[in-house]
Order: sequence, then C-alpha cells, then structure tokens
Amino acid sequence: MTLGLGDEDSLPDRVGASEFYQKYNPMEILGRGVSSVVRRCVSKATGGEFAVKIIDLAAELLDAEQVDEIRSSTHTEVDILRRVAGHPHIIQLIDCFESSTVIFLVFDLMRKGELFDYLTEKVSLSEKETRRTMRAVLEVVRYLHDEVGVVHRDLKPENLLLDSSGEIKLSDFGFACCLPAEGQPQLRELYGTPGYLAPEMLQCSMEPTHPGYGKEVDMWACGVITYTLLAGSPPFWHRKQLLMLRLIMEGRYQMSSPTWDDKTSCVKDLISRMLCVDPLQRLTAAQALAHPFFQSYSREQRPGLSPLRRFRAVSLAILAALRIRSPPPPLPVTPSALFLGAPHALLALRRCVDAAAFRLYGHWVKRGQRQDRAALFEDAPRAVLQLATGCVGCVGCGGCVGCVGCVVGGGGGGGVWGGAWQEEREF
Ligand code: ADP
Ligand code: MG
Repeated sequence: MTLGLGDEDSLPDRVGASEFYQKYNPMEILGRGVSSVVRRCVSKATGGEFAVKIIDLAAELLDAEQVDEIRSSTHTEVDILRRVAGHPHIIQLIDCFESSTVIFLVFDLMRKGELFDYLTEKVSLSEKETRRTMRAVLEVVRYLHDEVGVVHRDLKPENLLLDSSGEIKLSDFGFACCLPAEGQPQLRELYGTPGYLAPEMLQCSMEPTHPGYGKEVDMWACGVITYTLLAGSPPFWHRKQLLMLRLIMEGRYQMSSPTWDDKTSCVKDLISRMLCVDPLQRLTAAQALAHPFFQSYSREQRPGLSPLRRFRAVSLAILAALRIRSPPPPLPVTPSALFLGAPHALLALRRCVDAAAFRLYGHWVKRGQRQDRAALFEDAPRAVLQLATGCVGCVGCGGCVGCVGCVVGGGGGGGVWGGAWQEEREF
C-alpha cells in the first residue's frame, strides 16, 4: 500500500535498509520518542501487523559522536530485549535490521497504545485499576532486578503499553543497563525523564564523591507512577524544572488535598514507602508486591460474590428500587461562597472540572517540553499574580509558586535526559 507521506513523514534510507522493506510495509506513525519514530507495519509474507521503531542515524542535527552513542545504546537495548524475551509483561522484539544510516526494531503491535493516553482519557484511575496495573509493573520490575540483573531507568506511563486485551507491556529499554555485580562501583549516569528521576540519581550527578545509585531508582519511578495513576497529576511538579528537582531531592510531595480524601490509607502507605528518599529504606519490588495493598486482593480472587459482596449487592438493589418509587429530595445547595472561595475543595466539583479540562485539552498534554498533565491540574495563582503580591522575580528561590524568574527560565516536567547533568536531548 502506498502512503501519503508528507515531508515529516518521509521514510529513511530505502536502499541501505532494503532488507526491512522486503519483509514489511511501513504504515502510519504510532508514536515518537526522543530519537525514534514508531510506525505500524505489515508483514508482506503473512499480513500480520507489527510496530517498527525506526532510529534514523542520518538525522541532520546529529554529529558523529551522537550517532555512535545512539548506535551503541540501541545495541544494548536489543541485547537486553533478547535477554528478557518471553516475559508476559515485556514487549517482544520480533526482528532487527541495521544499515549505516538507520536501525529498524520490529515489535509486537500494542493496539491500545500508551498507559499515558489511557490515563488522559480517564483523568485518574480507581484503586482497583491501579492495583491491577501496578501489580503487572512491579512483577516486571522484580523480574528485571532479581532474575535478570537489569535496571530499566525510564519507567513511566508513556513506556507502559497496552495490548488489544488491555494487558500491560513494558517497552523502551533505551536507558536500561545491567546492574553492576556486588562490590563493583554503582551506576552514575543521569538517565531518565525529569519527573521520574530518583533523588539519589540527582544527588549523584551533583556530587563527585557520591557512591552512585542502583536498581532502587526504578522503585522510586514506580512510586511516582502509582501516585500519578490515582491522583491524575504527578507528585513532583513545578513550572521551573530546577525547583521540581529540588522537591524530588527533598521528597516533598503531598497527599492531603481533597483528591486523596477518598483513597485508602493502605495505598497511601504503599506510595510513601516507594517515595522514600533513602534508597536503602525504599521498598524493593518483591516487598512492594507483598504489601497489603496487593496482598489483600490476591490475583487468584475470582469475581464470584463473597457473602459481604452479596449483602452489598442486595442492599444496593433495594435502595435502587426505593429510589425509583420515590424520587430523592433535591440536593442541598452548596453555599456560593464555598464555590467562589475554594472550588477545588469540593471533590465532586473538582472531578467535574478536571474531566472537562482533559476533554478539552487532553490532546495538549505531554507532546512538548512545557506541556504536561500537571499543568492542567494546577490551581495555584499564576506568576503574574504572584508578582503582584510581592515576589520580585528571583531565580529558583523555592519560596514561591512561580515568579517571573521561575517562569522565564523554567520548563515543566517534560524532556528526557540521557547522559550528563542538565543535558536535555531533543532530536
Ligand atoms: P523512545 O525510546 O524513542 O522513547 P519508544 O520505544 O518509547 O521510543 O516508542 C515511542 C512511542 O511509540 C511509545 O511511547 C508508543 O507511543 C509508541 N510505541 C512504541 N512501541 C510500540 C508498539 N510496540 N506498539 C504500539 N505503539 C508503540
Ligand atoms: Mg519512550
């Protein structure tokens, strides 16, 4: 099939990578990463559908050193993908083609896309759905850490994909690496996505004498993901990225807003044990899976009704019948002062506003440096108002929610880092 390909859609190196084109027909774009474009593709022999990650090494902005770096990190990615092949919650690498200018990695097609987009559609998830999702994620992390000796370093909802039946598959092993053997020097490089970086990784990139970090960084990211799934917005966010990093290093986040009022103390406890600044005190994946949040609802539990559930179902049915026979009295009117003064304090209203915001602006989140979902949840005064109330535009003062200095210099939680401190890669 011929594609109507515009300029930005052009496909790289048809000659050098003829092997790929002989076997597959590339189709529309499914997603983009920092150094790649992912397209749906169809096998010419079987008609089966796959996803191909196309890493263009001939891109204009790349110098020779960057090309070497991308090529070698892709080799590591392929190596690790082959070692973890067969795990039910890890994306399967099917084929791999390489020429001097382009690398093609063919994967199973994840028809339902990213967990990130699913979350945008839903705004936030229930505890039940969060449990199901995080159990799968933690099982993969436990397997990577304890059985394969690999740390992923880029766990986030954009890299958790959903197959046609909604099952989670971990993808994007571009920053993954093997864990050093015991007694060997720990990892030191700054890799990942700002909002998910662990405090010890940030600390390490600033202090030459820091002993380094290990697999615990993935568990921090799991804490950030769990929080984000339940609240809809991430735990650490500030318009100015440096201030956000400070919040991370101090482990400063809150679970007190009305959003958290209806969450169980059990899940709050789990999050606080994963978002623990000291990596030695942080839960391991195996310990997290043994936490009551997962244990009190084991996977084996069948949806068949327990006596308590049956009682609840019967009660609900009776209430519904009564409601139909006599309509409910009108809802109490909420004082307008409450609406005007603190509308976000009303959970139901807040949910309504958030759902409307996501319906209108859902397409806007994530796709750029300063476009992230946290901005949609922001209910603090904007910089201009802050300035009007006295802040004179300090840079990184940390004491304001966003003065002129913060806004001009700062970015949101976007971007993906790989390599040295503050090197923000945008290809
Ligand atoms: P990068 O390493 O450049 O971030 P990813 O492997 O994360 O690249 O892929 C970028 C995006 O492409 C993903 O976030 C997702 O939206 C989409 N994508 C990747 N692999 C698949 C797949 N197997 N099926 C469907 N979509 C995919
Ligand atoms: Mg990615």
